[in-house]
Amino acid sequence: MKAKKYLGQHFLRDENIVRKIIDFADIEKEDLVLEIGPGKGALTKYLKNFTPYVVLVEKDKELIPYLKENFTDFLILNEDARYLNLKDILDAARKFFNKDFKKIKVLSNLPYNVGNIILINLLNYFPLLKDLTVMTQKEVFERIVATPKDKKKYGFLSILFQTFFNIKKGFDISPKAFLPPPKVYSTVFKFIPKPLDKNLNFFFKSLENYKKFLTKAFSQRRKKIKNVCPEFPKDYLDKRAEEISLEEYKSIFKKLNNH
Ligand code: SAM
Repeated sequence: MKAKKYLGQHFLRDENIVRKIIDFADIEKEDLVLEIGPGKGALTKYLKNFTPYVVLVEKDKELIPYLKENFTDFLILNEDARYLNLKDILDAARKFFNKDFKKIKVLSNLPYNVGNIILINLLNYFPLLKDLTVMTQKEVFERIVATPKDKKKYGFLSILFQTFFNIKKGFDISPKAFLPPPKVYSTVFKFIPKPLDKNLNFFFKSLENYKKFLTKAFSQRRKKIKNVCPEFPKDYLDKRAEEISLEEYKSIFKKLNNH
């Protein structure tokens, strides 16, 4: 079967790298693992060594018969992860495995073209996430972990994800490890949820507004904040969006929302 470019299909073919990713994911015995985009099962085939509780979500319906044949004990769903409802996944897993799970561990060699959208959707289910081990283009990873000193890389994705997660880098992967090879290097990394205390819960409850707030702040990077968000406290008005730190954005957002 030919790899489908529009589905971001780059299949891992280097077994050493696959084992390194699985090691890095650090799967525990009773974990419920959700693998997004299992493809031809490069990572999937190692999962049963760690846990029997695996859910596969693959958009490409042509891959489903192959997955069902090879992974008979896993719950396999032909769905689009951009719109996945993790509450439904948890319910489906409870029924399928007849076991009460509380959290989901996500593993994914993300389809490059929609990786961000999938991650942003998963954030809607933050309290259900144990952690996420993912691969994206190296450049996307760099945007996610960027700070003001990284200038252009720093933005919406950095602040949104760093508000909710500690991010741990695994390693970079050469295009040669994939078939067909992508044009760029990839990075494996882990999102480790920060504790959902009162403060973080405020951001979680305000997620839609928080995203709007960040989108607006970074909508005209070259302008000073006073021309984009005149409602910001006066200390920030002469700065540009990329000169304001994560902690400052969090405190501005709280102030503007009377929290
Ligand atoms: N896990 C396999 C591997 O590492 O070899 C395949 C990874 S490949 C980069 C991405 C996979 O995600 C493909 O199997 C593709 O069909 C699937 N995919 C693409 N878009 C998707 C979506 N919106 N939801 C779920 N799966 C998707």
